[in-house]
Amino acid sequence: MPIATQLHKHLQLLRAIPRRSKVLLLCLSLLLCALLSMLCLQQATDEHQRQLDAEAGKLQEDLHERLQLALITLDYASELLRQPGSDKLTQLGSLAGQTSARLPFIDYLGWQARIPAEQRSAFEAVQSRQRGQHFVIRDHWPSSDGSWGADNSWQTAATHSSYVPLLMQEPSPSLDQHAMQGLDLLHDPVLGPSLQQAITTATVQVSPPLRIGQHWHLFLLQAIYDSKLPPSNPVLRDEQWRGVMLMNLRLDAMLASSISAHPALQFWLQKPDGSRSEWPSGSARADSSLPTHLASTLLPLPADGYQLQIAQAMQWRQWLGLPLLAIFTGTALLCYLLWLMLALLQRQRHFRQQTLEQLHREREQATVTLHAISDAVLAFDTHYRIHYLNPSAAMLLGLGHRAALGQDVRELVRMSHEFARPGQPDPFTRAMQIRDTAYLPDSSYLTRCSGEKLLVEGSVSPVFDRQAALIGAVLTLRDTAPRRQRMLANLEASERRLRQHEQELARVGRINTMGEMASGIAHEINQPLCAILSYCQASLSLLEEDEADVQLVRRAMQNAATQAQRAGQVIQRLREFVSKRTLHQNPLDPNQSVSNALALLEYELQQQDIHLEMCFADNPPNIHADNIQLEQVILNLLRNAIDAMEPVRPWGRLTVSTRYDSERVHILISDNGPGIAADLQDKIFDPFFSTKPNGMGLGLAICQTAIENMGGQIMAGNRPGGGAEFVIDLPALTTTAAAAVAGEEV
Ligand code: ADP
Repeated sequence: MPIATQLHKHLQLLRAIPRRSKVLLLCLSLLLCALLSMLCLQQATDEHQRQLDAEAGKLQEDLHERLQLALITLDYASELLRQPGSDKLTQLGSLAGQTSARLPFIDYLGWQARIPAEQRSAFEAVQSRQRGQHFVIRDHWPSSDGSWGADNSWQTAATHSSYVPLLMQEPSPSLDQHAMQGLDLLHDPVLGPSLQQAITTATVQVSPPLRIGQHWHLFLLQAIYDSKLPPSNPVLRDEQWRGVMLMNLRLDAMLASSISAHPALQFWLQKPDGSRSEWPSGSARADSSLPTHLASTLLPLPADGYQLQIAQAMQWRQWLGLPLLAIFTGTALLCYLLWLMLALLQRQRHFRQQTLEQLHREREQATVTLHAISDAVLAFDTHYRIHYLNPSAAMLLGLGHRAALGQDVRELVRMSHEFARPGQPDPFTRAMQIRDTAYLPDSSYLTRCSGEKLLVEGSVSPVFDRQAALIGAVLTLRDTAPRRQRMLANLEASERRLRQHEQELARVGRINTMGEMASGIAHEINQPLCAILSYCQASLSLLEEDEADVQLVRRAMQNAATQAQRAGQVIQRLREFVSKRTLHQNPLDPNQSVSNALALLEYELQQQDIHLEMCFADNPPNIHADNIQLEQVILNLLRNAIDAMEPVRPWGRLTVSTRYDSERVHILISDNGPGIAADLQDKIFDPFFSTKPNGMGLGLAICQTAIENMGGQIMAGNRPGGGAEFVIDLPALTTTAAAAVAGEEV
């Protein structure tokens, strides 16, 4: 079957479910879809949060790793400065350049010398001269947001025992940081404590994050002492330090390579007091229409409480990703399966209803049939217990319907069979034994409850269940008396009709001879008249004698009377011929007329062992003729043929056939007798011509007249192989002729 047809059938199946179920399914699928979508969203949200937490951890690790790199570099620079020899600052500058190229998050690296109070003026003077502008050592009070650069937050440094002014900045500090030139690091509120710590502990110190311009910075500080190794005594350290190695790191640059892979991330730096400021490089904004998640991680700094916060909004592809698609597909599939299941259930219900309806109809038909039929029907199980009988059965047995149920069929239906062989099983048992229909033997009698005996016929048929196991049998019985009576009545009626028909044929035949008899009447009556005349003349002659012989006269008169009687009989016969009706012509089927005539001779043909061959033309046209008269003619020709075949018996062969063309219909009757002698062929149609000892010689003459009255003719001849052949030639009744005839009849 083509796919399109299958698809069409499938769609029809799906369309078959009720409208209410369709709406319910739609609602269910929407609900399911919404539920699964929510689940999917929840999972996607959790997953996103997990990814963000992992990302925050990764950023922390990266920051720590780069800080370690910076510390190693600072250590190396400090070591370089501690080495003996001149021009160390130049080397340091070149190291700063190389390092900055390699580690771009290092803004600058530089040596910041300790300036005692007594050298301050000279120092400032030298710096002013070198820079070509006024230079003073300054203090700075950070603004509320911790940023640098506002002019009003700077002032000339207060008097202290020593200063660490910010000078050397390699390789190229930003413009914002230029503003920090001259800052006294030692007394700065942010960097100062870290520097003091670095001096007293002789370790590298990391300052808290410091916002300079748009960026957050970290300062790494390492004190350098007069001796190569730092004094072990903290008091000596505080006296013997000569400056500090300073490294400035840009926090956002430290994470630049890590966060470049996440352009949608947004960053904040949260300070220990809880305030937070935006991470400078966090540029991309999340799409606010989708949920945004936040993750934070502690910065790996000595100063506690600084946290890096990152936020990222979910993206559409995370929503419309594979899971959501799978959920939609799954929901659709589930709904389709549910739909299909409902459709199949619906179809099954429909089929069941149809089957029940069919079953009910068949049951009704069977019940009505069983109630309507005149045959008695009884059903019984394998224990011969009757569980059904129709009203005819109850009537035939002569007892009530209820009384019969549950009874043993062998006891209730008392059967006796004439000529039954002893030991033969009853038909009930036999049907179940042979597992086939068992017919009641001929001359089976049923004894009714009243004791009356009925000649019955019938059969017992076994009944099987679906597994072909025998579950009982059905007995059908009928009283043959009504049927026999009907048959007898029919037989009598048909015999009566046959006799009437024969009488009618004979009568018509006689009427037809009337015309011929007229021509032969003279011959017939002439003889008795001549005899009467001669007897009368003889009697007169005798009476004229003197002694008349009375005896002789009496005898002559008796003979004359006999002859007169004969003449009277001839007249009487003629009266009988003419006493009936005139011709009544109708359209006739020639085949039917031939068949009717043959039916009358059937017995005779059998008796005389004559073989009959019939060859009828298919659908010959009708002829316009008197039915009885035509049959009489055919009958006469057939009788002549039977007579002619007397010498060849028992090898007589009679052939009757019909033929037709557009205008004529021919009925041919031929035999295998001696045929017609050539010199007699012209005479046989003459009235009173006969070659038979007792023949009247009127048959053919009558036949010819009758056929001529119908507009036809009879031809006689011999067949080439021997035997005579008579042909009745009649005009065919054409459509126009039939119409004319119909008009006449009207
Ligand atoms: P009938 O039968 O009384 O002799 P018909 O007029 O019927 O009178 O027949 C006239 C004669 O025609 C017959 O005596 C017979 O000699 C001859 N004839 C008729 N039919 C046949 C036939 N089938 N074969 C030979 N001769 C026949």
